[in-house]
Amino acid sequence: MDELPVADPATARRAGLGLVRADAGAVAATLVLTALAAAAGLAGPWLVGRILDEVRAGSGPDAVDRLALGIVACGLVQLVLARHARRIAHRFGERTLARVRERFVERVLRLPTGVVERAGTGEVAARGTGDVAALAVTLRDTGPELLIAAVQAVFLLAAVAVVAPPLGACSLVGLAGTGCAARWYLRRAHGAYLAEGAASAQLAEVLTATVAGARTVEALRLQERRVAACHRAIATARRARERTLALRSVLFPAVDVSHVLPVAAVLLVGGVLLARGAVTLGAVATAALYLLQLATPLNTILWQVDQLQRSTAAFARVEGVAGAVPTPRPAPRPRGVRVSVRDVRFAYPGHACDALRGVDLDLRPGERIALVGPSGAGKSTLGRLLAGLEAPRTGSVTVGGVPVADLDRAERRRHVVLVTQEHHVFLGTVRDNLLLAAPHADDDALRAALATVGGLLDELPDGLDTRLGSGAPTGDGRLAQQLALARVVLADPHTVVLDEATALLDPATARRTERALAAALAGRTVVAIAHRLHTAHDADRVAVLRDGRITELGTHEALLAADGAYAALWRSWQAGGTRHLG
Ligand code: ATP
Repeated sequence: MDELPVADPATARRAGLGLVRADAGAVAATLVLTALAAAAGLAGPWLVGRILDEVRAGSGPDAVDRLALGIVACGLVQLVLARHARRIAHRFGERTLARVRERFVERVLRLPTGVVERAGTGEVAARGTGDVAALAVTLRDTGPELLIAAVQAVFLLAAVAVVAPPLGACSLVGLAGTGCAARWYLRRAHGAYLAEGAASAQLAEVLTATVAGARTVEALRLQERRVAACHRAIATARRARERTLALRSVLFPAVDVSHVLPVAAVLLVGGVLLARGAVTLGAVATAALYLLQLATPLNTILWQVDQLQRSTAAFARVEGVAGAVPTPRPAPRPRGVRVSVRDVRFAYPGHACDALRGVDLDLRPGERIALVGPSGAGKSTLGRLLAGLEAPRTGSVTVGGVPVADLDRAERRRHVVLVTQEHHVFLGTVRDNLLLAAPHADDDALRAALATVGGLLDELPDGLDTRLGSGAPTGDGRLAQQLALARVVLADPHTVVLDEATALLDPATARRTERALAAALAGRTVVAIAHRLHTAHDADRVAVLRDGRITELGTHEALLAADGAYAALWRSWQAGGTRHLG
């Protein structure tokens, strides 16, 4: 499985700065208010120092009371300013998170289908849930708290240096140890958290794939293999978590030590300086109080740095999706409806072997062409290229002279649509499900499209407003199928590729489906990947694929007359009844 890309540190940093710039006013307001709050907070210990010096100098209770009142007033001012700063910062976090989420969804929707299939839906889901949730914690709480704590810490350290410069120097010495521990941690944590994110995504992928394919797993008796795969994924995820836990277990003791060392250093050195008359008692007390206060922001910084690491890795994974979104190239509008395949070679990413090896095919507008051939011949692959879901390695697949894969999705949908057996019902109303194919269609057009494919709105409790998906009734899958075909009618492409559209259905359902299909396909060019030979028999032309090449092409009668591989297949199919081809 190919993982989705992860943004490199420079790209992630640029993206992060972009988010800050997008709401620069809020960041600036937070910084200013926090700085003012921190400045107000400095007044308390300084006034305590002044009280000590006043008392030592023999001042009366009046002076002490005035200073004490000053402490209360400054405390109140600090409280109000800090509260406002927090509010603005939290709102910034919420707005930014909404921006990140919207951008992520928009990018995921622009990912080529092949990329999502190869990465696995678990990987995409893990980035959209676990990683975005980790980021949410940072944007809502960690980020604002860190910003506020950093401003407070800088102010407190600067204040110690101003009150008594020698004590400022020794508080820095005391803090050096904490700095070293944090550096040691930061160097290792980013990679460890990235590995943890990847391991969680892999675990989600293995679990969802096992649950989604439970019936196949049961039918093929693959339980033990799937359980072993789950165990392996769990073991990898556990190892990744143990690694980050080990890193935290070194960092956190450093947090505890960080309180004690600078205060002890200031008291020891302060005592000596006081004895020599180099500083006043008030200055030593003020510096010690500042350093005691420093414990709170320092604590916050060290604890939150861990969360910051986690979310930096998460942010790199969320932003990384952008790397898989193709840059839109302005493609000229197709001139005409002719679909042409010219000397197409195509290999699936990571596979050395070509699945298609020099395919040429011209679709005649309005014809029905059947693709037949043994399993693995490349029929579905050719279908995906015709529908523009994959681009050829060499050669071209064009509609009206323009490469299909270069067209933007809305434009492509007007030309070629691939219909497979997987019919999705999306969470929402019947109307929402239909509007996906034609966002501007009115209710009459939606009703008409449903009626064309035999869908009866009367059978739905609320007509177009009937809610579907996530436990809502969708009948026996018939509605899902009708919605899928009605979407084809609404998109109104001139060419439709049908892959296994009726292959695995029981005969009664298949007949009903074929009627609906015939209605949906009327007047369009159809490429049918045929698993039953009667589809080929009914087609205008038949293309036989073998080992990634078209080996025979012509009408059913002409191919029978040529007495090649198709004639042999036809004879054996007639002898064996409704034998399967694919
Ligand atoms: P079937 O009738 O069984 O669906 P097909 O004729 O449609 O077969 P394709 O599914 O197009 O054949 O497969 C052509 C070749 O490409 C095969 O060798 C197959 O293993 C390979 N292939 C198909 N899908 C993928 C994929 N997603 N990744 C890698 N290889 C693939």
